[in-house]
Amino acid sequence: MKALIEVCKSDITTLKVDAIVNAANCSLLGGGGVDGAIHRAAGPKLLEECKTLGGCEPGDAKITDGYALSARYVIHAVGPIWQGGTHDEESLLERVYKRSFQLAIEAGCESIAFPNISTGVYGFPKKQAAKIAIATTQTIVEQVTSLKKIFFTCFDEENYDLYMKLLSKDD
Ligand code: ADP
Repeated sequence: MKALIEVCKSDITTLKVDAIVNAANCSLLGGGGVDGAIHRAAGPKLLEECKTLGGCEPGDAKITDGYALSARYVIHAVGPIWQGGTHDEESLLERVYKRSFQLAIEAGCESIAFPNISTGVYGFPKKQAAKIAIATTQTIVEQVTSLKKIFFTCFDEENYDLYMKLLSKDD
């Protein structure tokens, strides 16, 4: 059976899923936005593990334990910083979603929740980012049977509306 894709409007740290994805920065040593929220909710051991990872390149991701979170794993995904669209931002965003799925699948996850990577402080245009996130996810869903549920966690109204619209179009 194909995985179900759901859009939800919630704080990603509260979700009971196998893995939540963090919109991290290259250092993997914590930041603001969703990264700060995840580190606060997971507790200090998360930072301790992140310190051992040696950072992460844009377009790549690394997996850790979820510690105090309900989620078993955190996948720290480094999205591109928007620089006007001329610095490979679109393919880097696609790559970071693919890589996050790959890590989740390797860890045996059946459920995974994504935030809207790069659309906060990193400034990626929201509609363009949503289209890439959805298209990449739909490709994975066609290819992989071990995943059961994929959540797009939309924290702001604009992203929520965009995802609802884009996903209902395909029905
Ligand atoms: P980036 O640096 O990749 O842009 P941000 O953390 O600034 O990362 O923003 C990414 C997205 O995460 C934004 O759409 C923001 O609204 C959202 N966000 C912030 N806090 C949370 C949270 N607790 N749960 C889910 N999404 C969140």
